[in-house]
Amino acid sequence: MTTDAEQRQRVLAEAHAQTQAIRGGHHRTHEMEHSEPLFLTSSYVFESAADAAQRFSGDIPGNVYSRYTNPTVRIFEERIAMMEGAEDAVATSSGMAAILAVCMAFLKQGDHVVSSRSIFGATNVVFNRYFGKLGVETTYVPLTDIDAWRAAVRQGSTRLFYLETPSNPLSEIADIAAIAKVAHEAGALLVVDNCFCTPALQQPLVFGADIVLHSATKFIDGQGRALGGVVAGRREHMAEVLGFIRSCGPSMSPFNAWIFLKGLETLSLRMQAHCANAQALAEWLNAQDGVEQVFYAGLPGHPGHALARRQQSAFGGVLSFRVKGDKAAAWRFIDATRLVSITANLGDAKTTIVHPATTTHARVSPEDRAGAGITDNLIRVAVGLEHVEDLIADMARGLAAL
Ligand SMILES: *Cc1c(COP(=O)(O)O)cnc(C)c1O
Repeated sequence: MTTDAEQRQRVLAEAHAQTQAIRGGHHRTHEMEHSEPLFLTSSYVFESAADAAQRFSGDIPGNVYSRYTNPTVRIFEERIAMMEGAEDAVATSSGMAAILAVCMAFLKQGDHVVSSRSIFGATNVVFNRYFGKLGVETTYVPLTDIDAWRAAVRQGSTRLFYLETPSNPLSEIADIAAIAKVAHEAGALLVVDNCFCTPALQQPLVFGADIVLHSATKFIDGQGRALGGVVAGRREHMAEVLGFIRSCGPSMSPFNAWIFLKGLETLSLRMQAHCANAQALAEWLNAQDGVEQVFYAGLPGHPGHALARRQQSAFGGVLSFRVKGDKAAAWRFIDATRLVSITANLGDAKTTIVHPATTTHARVSPEDRAGAGITDNLIRVAVGLEHVEDLIADMARGLAAL
């Protein structure tokens, strides 16, 4: 005999990610609330001294302190784990805290990391400045060059492979299954930052990645309100990550978890709308005289188009393009827009525009920038949910200023 609650869990486990995003992880309390409850409490009460001792030792599961576990945060973790097809997930105070937690959980002095060279700027800083200082070296490789990943392996010390796909800002697509195979041959774990796609569009674990992580600050919130992150993967790996979080402190706030739960309810619909707007904008830009090249995997001419089609259910909400001209031309384009926001944030209902070479990638050396294709005439747009005709009109204002 199974209970109604168990049957409900089974139905959800087999449901689509869109359904899981709305209902996953919520185990109704005795109050019979319909919407997810917000538990703003730092600690929890025990039945007795003996109960306290057993909960502290872990012999009896249950809440002790909200740095360790919190019921609202737990709903978020279970929901993300379900959507990513993971055994478990651990929430963190920001996307960077998720990356830090993975590094702290799995790296030690003398270990080696192979990373895509096209990763979030602060992730570079974590690898180079902080883990470099602790005796962990990182080798950077071009995201799509499988031979380079293989050649970078140091037998016996390479512990992690790390990548983002699609890459920022050029939307290169990594073959997750091929890179996972190289990682596993080397005895390393493949970590994928799935922030740009979210589990609504791509589930890296299905293709053989070991750990997937997110900045929930971006599309999962979707409205630019709160910072958070999450790591998902196998149960034994998540126990290591939680061990770091509960002892060292970068836990997710329950209030932020509640915001992300509300964000997740609309994630699938929002991602479809982001992708539709981005596709239309990419096609329009591609046909303009003042535009030299558009980078968006949804364009059939993009080198990663076929792979993205296999690996993702849609092409994402971020695109970039080179204007004909130099840095001054790119800046004139950006300054002539009147609707979109000039900011480096992404994954928001509001469209944002940024000049990568002088902002998000300004700290990268000019040679590395050139190698990565981030030229001075490149502009990145994180396409929001405004009406696409208004976005096209704003881009036309930019083009007219060239
Ligand atoms: C924003 C971002 C991060 C960092 O997340 P925070 O929530 O800002 O700490 C990591 N990876 C990617 C791809 C991002 O876009």
